[in-house]
Amino acid sequence: MGVGAVNRVAVWTGDNRVEIEERTVPRPGPGEVLLKIKAAGICGTDMHMLSGAHPHAKSPLVPGHEFAGDIVEIGRGVDKRLSGMRVGSDSYIGCGKCVYCLSGKVQLCDKGTRELGIDLDGGWAEYIVVPERNVYFLPDDVEYHEAGAGCILNCPMAAVEMVGIKPGDTVLIIGDGPSSLIMLQLAGLKGAAGVIVAGHREKRLAIARQLGADLVVNT
Ligand SMILES: [Zn+2]
Ligand SMILES: [Zn+2]
Repeated sequence: MGVGAVNRVAVWTGDNRVEIEERTVPRPGPGEVLLKIKAAGICGTDMHMLSGAHPHAKSPLVPGHEFAGDIVEIGRGVDKRLSGMRVGSDSYIGCGKCVYCLSGKVQLCDKGTRELGIDLDGGWAEYIVVPERNVYFLPDDVEYHEAGAGCILNCPMAAVEMVGIKPGDTVLIIGDGPSSLIMLQLAGLKGAAGVIVAGHREKRLAIARQLGADLVVNT
């Protein structure tokens, strides 16, 4: 990456406005990597933010807390084998040293976590620098756009783990939104013998059927 190369970013400038700006491609510092972003998601949180409804995000800001891309440059101390890797990135940036960071709960960092795309410029950009510890490798069969929509997996995964679905269980999912449709698929992967989805939008319930719901109930 040549010094001074251009990084086009989408900047939220307030009041539901997003403008394209040209900035210099950032350079990775020690322990950091530069990603060329291949896909970035638009989350419900982003829509709240653009309208000014987010409790602490402030414009001007580059949104984007879910994204994936290629590592195109590495900073000092980073394993050279990471160059060129396809990766997704965690959006939370913690101190990397406290008990929460070390146990993977970066959002609870003792020093106060900051989130890319919410508190710091995020992934609606061509390039972004992130800590090496934030990236995770993408298997060949996971597309960039799939990894770039990872945020929406969080809640359904937590719910499925918390409920403790076991093979053979029958599962009722109340709601037919995107999270419910993901939960339906996760319940199947956990071995649920029957999954029922209750909702009130016929279109979504039809998708639930396609995704393997054994029964849908229009409430
Ligand atoms: Zn999100
Ligand atoms: Zn920490």
